[in-house]
Amino acid sequence: MNQKGGVGKTTTTINLAAAIAQAGFRTLVIDLDPQAHATLGLGIDGAEGRSIYDLIHDAADAVATAREVAPNLLAIASHTDLAATETELASADDRLERMKRVIDAFAGRVDFVLIDCPPSLGLLTLNALAAADEVLIPMQAHFLALQGVGKLLETVKLLAIGPQPINPRLKVAGVVLCMHDAASTHTREVVADLDAFFEGGRASESPWKDAVVFRPAIRRNIKLAESPSFGKTIFDYAPLASGAEDYRALADAFLAGRRPHSAHAPGEMPLVVTRSPSAEKTEPAAQASTSA
Ligand code: ADP
Ligand code: MG
Repeated sequence: MNQKGGVGKTTTTINLAAAIAQAGFRTLVIDLDPQAHATLGLGIDGAEGRSIYDLIHDAADAVATAREVAPNLLAIASHTDLAATETELASADDRLERMKRVIDAFAGRVDFVLIDCPPSLGLLTLNALAAADEVLIPMQAHFLALQGVGKLLETVKLLAIGPQPINPRLKVAGVVLCMHDAASTHTREVVADLDAFFEGGRASESPWKDAVVFRPAIRRNIKLAESPSFGKTIFDYAPLASGAEDYRALADAFLAGRRPHSAHAPGEMPLVVTRSPSAEKTEPAAQASTSA
């Protein structure tokens, strides 16, 4: 999540998810932005079939709503109607529990759920935060972008710690640097500030006490901007491009620090299995790990 638009949320969601899926983990992308860019980028016809809009109103059939877009990679489409959700749910007591219900339906079926949030801190994003284990913050390393991150962290803290905590499990995993220009002095200063900020919080009880600035940064790469118009992830569109290299390396960094919860509850049929997880060291736990 990041309430600023155009920072790389959707690009990161679909390509990180695709890289995690290629590493052998069953991965679900949920497009929670009414603009439906992740839906388009994954080559799904959002006008057809059920979408996250339907599931937010009624989570039954959540599993059947997910479509297989690549081996190990499932997606739930968005729809422009999702924009009305804010008003439609305004007076519902359980309005912050809707996404959690959708994701709970996938327990034991997927290893990771990645949610592509809209560029706001409204009800949809709050729903994602109420359901997630971790927050990934895609951003560009510009001075003004840092200020937005402060507001974002306060929102995470409000949900995680309260006064009335809604999701005490919620943690900030870290920042993904997108469209990165490592040659610029300004960029390097902003990254150093971010590193120092997270280092300074290690002893705190904040939800970002374990957060990192993920390495490598995702370099600016025109292939990443082109691939959505073909409905393809970078790995299908330009597997040798720097964008593919960077998102594969980001997936390695992301996976190194965590074991997927998952997996197969005994006797339960996994939804998609094409390869066994390549990281043998990971052990099954109870629930799918969810990043917003
Ligand atoms: P958000 O979801 O935060 O609005 P997007 O992921 O849609 O941001 O990215 C905004 C624009 O920048 C899109 O046109 C996308 O294709 C492009 N883009 C994202 N990351 C890169 C990158 N590393 N290099 C080049 N273009 C990028
Ligand atoms: Mg987006």
